[in-house]
Amino acid sequence: MRAAMFYEPGDVRMEDVAVPEAGPGELRVRIGAALTCGTDVKTYKRGHPTLIKETPSPFGHEFGGTVEAVGEGVEGWSPGMRVVAANSAPCNQCYYCKVGDQSMCENLSFLNGAFAEYIVIPPRIVEQNLYEIPAGMEFSRAALLEPLACAVHGIVRTPIAMGDTVAVVGAGQIGLMFVRLATERGARVICMDKSVDRLAVARQLGAEETVEAAEGMDTIAAVREWTPEARGADVVIEAVGIPQLWEQSLQMVRKGGEVTLFGGAPSGTSIEVDTVLLHYSQLTVRGIFHHTPYTVQVAFDLLKSGRVDPEPFISGVRSLENVVEALEQHGRQEGIKYEIRPPGEGSS
Ligand SMILES: [Zn+2]
Ligand SMILES: [Zn+2]
Repeated sequence: MRAAMFYEPGDVRMEDVAVPEAGPGELRVRIGAALTCGTDVKTYKRGHPTLIKETPSPFGHEFGGTVEAVGEGVEGWSPGMRVVAANSAPCNQCYYCKVGDQSMCENLSFLNGAFAEYIVIPPRIVEQNLYEIPAGMEFSRAALLEPLACAVHGIVRTPIAMGDTVAVVGAGQIGLMFVRLATERGARVICMDKSVDRLAVARQLGAEETVEAAEGMDTIAAVREWTPEARGADVVIEAVGIPQLWEQSLQMVRKGGEVTLFGGAPSGTSIEVDTVLLHYSQLTVRGIFHHTPYTVQVAFDLLKSGRVDPEPFISGVRSLENVVEALEQHGRQEGIKYEIRPPGEGSS
């Protein structure tokens, strides 16, 4: 089969590899569609500390497809079923799993290989994070499950009350999901980004105000001025992963406010925090990473019920052979996400 293989940052190759076999507890899925993800773009540019541990590695992690082979001992799944899966599942044995922080599971192993014709889903994911795609939903739309589960994780851990002002920093796929989910919670949302096209999508998803983060623009002032009495946003969510924007996020929030830092910044970077601001303004700052089986379930229900419309997130279709080009386009912020379609696959 054809598959994209990650060798090192900047080096992803299309190769002929053997179709993987489904071992005990596993399922082999014929991929109907995959999606490019901001995480794939980061990995393509600079590698990834947890997602890819050995190279060359299969690549891509958001996909929907059809079950083609069922490993020994698997129950409840059969060939022909259309499925979507998250890219990991927790061990439920370690300390963090036991205290309910499964996104920090010590034994999280990541599934890569969505940019290919077939993928084998390991037992743990089959058991915990696999869903049947509702009739009528395209593979590519269902494949939004994993990033949406991450955004849901950020939202469920961030206290947002009806009527709160929420500033979302960044209008990439995750920032846009935060815009949608915060709006769904009854918040008034302001979103900033460098791309006016992305900001237009933010407004479509419910942002009341948008700020173009152009050179020389004081985005901190813009957010504060938009909030009542210019006191700052009740909640700020950073969804880019740039240390400077983390620092700015702390300046945008009101006294007693909440800052959720979702965007993962490069290894080795750090931020400077004004201790007076942090202490006397009683700020709550939290980092949020990845998803849990619970947030995957919530994300699936949001997609299934139509409360999150996948359409605005998918900017176009590219063939599997052109996946590198799609990642580069995604990285240049042309569009939000791209659907990657293996040879011979139609639109559903
Ligand atoms: Zn992703
Ligand atoms: Zn664990």
